[in-house]
Amino acid sequence: MPLKTATEYVASLRKMNCTAFIMGDRVENTVDHPLVKPSLNAVSLTYELAHDQNYAALLTTRSSLTGETISRFCHLHQSAEDLVAKVKMLRLLGQKTAACFQRCVGMDAINAVDSTTFEVDCAHGTVYHQRFRAWLKQMQAEDWTVDGAMTDPKGDRGKTPSQQTDPDMYLRVVAEQHDGIVVRGAKVHQTGALNSHEILVMPTAALSASDRAYAVAFAVPADSPGLIYIYGRQASDMRKLEAGTLDVGNARFGGQECLVVFDDVFVPWARVFLYGEYDFAGTLVERFAAYHRQSYGGCKVGVGDVLIGATSLAAEYNGVSGASHIKDKLIEMTHLNETLYACGLACSSEGRPTATGTYLVDLLLANVCKQNVTRFPYEISRLAEDIAGGLMVTMPSESDLKNPATKPWLEKYLQGAPHVPTESRLRILRLIENLTLGAGAVGYRTESMHGAGSPQAQRIMIGRLAVFSGKQELAKAIAGITEGCEA
Ligand code: SF4
Ligand code: FE
Repeated sequence: MPLKTATEYVASLRKMNCTAFIMGDRVENTVDHPLVKPSLNAVSLTYELAHDQNYAALLTTRSSLTGETISRFCHLHQSAEDLVAKVKMLRLLGQKTAACFQRCVGMDAINAVDSTTFEVDCAHGTVYHQRFRAWLKQMQAEDWTVDGAMTDPKGDRGKTPSQQTDPDMYLRVVAEQHDGIVVRGAKVHQTGALNSHEILVMPTAALSASDRAYAVAFAVPADSPGLIYIYGRQASDMRKLEAGTLDVGNARFGGQECLVVFDDVFVPWARVFLYGEYDFAGTLVERFAAYHRQSYGGCKVGVGDVLIGATSLAAEYNGVSGASHIKDKLIEMTHLNETLYACGLACSSEGRPTATGTYLVDLLLANVCKQNVTRFPYEISRLAEDIAGGLMVTMPSESDLKNPATKPWLEKYLQGAPHVPTESRLRILRLIENLTLGAGAVGYRTESMHGAGSPQAQRIMIGRLAVFSGKQELAKAIAGITEGCEA
């Protein structure tokens, strides 16, 4: 059965030989690095829960390609129910990790590439779809984690790829050989890149004829020669290097983002899924973005559940859980969080099949979902900070709580409700700090803003999909306007 255990997943990563830099050092073994470990734990959980009978129905499914039981992260959505199950799976994993578990970008990329390559082949007589499906079968059989890589550095945002002073600001093909292509450039903000077996690269924007070299999609093993990983920092990340588990806030899990440099990487033809068909770059971007905007209606909601739980506990530990304004704020947080979930479910339920049978979310509703995600986690975080109180950012360290010279003072003066151990109160405040201001805020706040596209990207799509003319017709019919208007 092509389902790795968590142990097998970690062992398979250990065999890889990536060129990685973390905090200025070349790191041979990223698997055991303390800054990487929490993010690896989060991806590992996607493997672990696939073998847990309580969760297997969400985490696994039957492959539409082979009939085998596979991870849902490797699956092409075959129905609206599949899309709904995906959102539920992501909420569950958000609840279990309170972090970005990274594996969804690959799932979203394979679904976008699947339908787009088929349409490219129909229009251009190319053979990308069969190449992609062959690679996808291997992904499913090996239970790979795949980094769906879209975002280019972009340089001067006022210029197109080919207009840039430095042509490498967008990833491009720099050489064509008899056996494949050579690519150069970089992908930024790469979620879980160092925890991935493969990188599936897509263009970052709609392209024109002059940007033909930038219209490229392909997959490469994550330890291919020429790939260089530079690990991203997170607020308060050094706490992951400390001995205790209190100050880190999230004791076990975290996210990961890398800058990935493609320094003339060779890609054999069998792994090239788009090359030069610039007219489909926009479609690919639009679909990947829509799937990932749907994803946020699951994962961020799960993390929101943890934050709401932590805030409710903070109120209880402070002895104020009975106050009406506290109850109202928790209700507001829940209302906002469930609204995000409703959007995630809605765009899934309204999903439709593409020409390959792979289901695509409703694009308008997926963009509305993500637009809300750019806002609501900020308000949920504000309310969490409101209820947590200032101690969240002024309390001493775990070391002070352990030092016999200071422990009695902290135990005495940082006690809240008398039935709650002081350490429990401090642990909950550190978790809220992690999610709203610390390393966890990368995934819960800023990623909510910019991940899967910044707010304006969704507004452009909403404007395009709103079909105002259709709404005008509705209004005319209701108002009794029957004659056409002269321009
Ligand atoms: Fe998955 Fe959410 Fe992380 Fe994206 S942000 S990779 S959807 S957990
Ligand atoms: Fe993301």
